[in-house]
Amino acid sequence: MEYNLIRSRRRTLAIHITKDGELEVRAPLKLSVKVIEDFILKKQDWIEKQVTRVRNNAVIQKAFTEGEEFLYLGESYILEFSDILKSTVELHGKLYIAPKHSHHVQKVLYSWYKKEALQVITDRVEQYSAATGLQVKAIRLSNAKQRWGSCSPKGYVNFSWRLIMAPLEIIDYVVVHELVHLKHHDHSKAFWHKVESIIPDYKSRRKWLKENSHNLTM
Ligand SMILES: [Zn+2]
Repeated sequence: MEYNLIRSRRRTLAIHITKDGELEVRAPLKLSVKVIEDFILKKQDWIEKQVTRVRNNAVIQKAFTEGEEFLYLGESYILEFSDILKSTVELHGKLYIAPKHSHHVQKVLYSWYKKEALQVITDRVEQYSAATGLQVKAIRLSNAKQRWGSCSPKGYVNFSWRLIMAPLEIIDYVVVHELVHLKHHDHSKAFWHKVESIIPDYKSRRKWLKENSHNLTM
């Protein structure tokens, strides 16, 4: 297996798949090639899976069965069927769904994600509205996979329900981005300056969203 080796003053070995689907290995200065290659060999299955994924630019399709993992606010939860639930979907440690819904898990999860998204996003919008004085007319959910938020000059804001799969700090960044658009309708210096005054580390959150957006799906 081909790889690019980057040696530096680090203590541990790490492997990383680049955006072009190449294997990059970061290693301590004096670690032997044998140790490095044994490590790669041990991780081969994982590497091949990741490389294929990156090259196909696709997320592995879900089968919506028990044992699969689903994201909620940046955390991964294993799906399990359980018949002692009070609601259709419950989240505590795992993602539980009643067995009677096992044949339409995708549909059930879709409604659940949307309901959760609306609740969480509305709450964040209210908090940042109160803090900034930027008011929205209404919040709507979209099904977009890349366009995380948008807003109209009249004050209607749209958010993709898929944001509920991202960590809260990422949701906050998108919320603030759209709220600031109510005042600055472009991506001018003044716009970013305002965003930064509310979320000083917005750049790293924006970067996270760019790099991870393909995972925020099911
Ligand atoms: Zn924007």
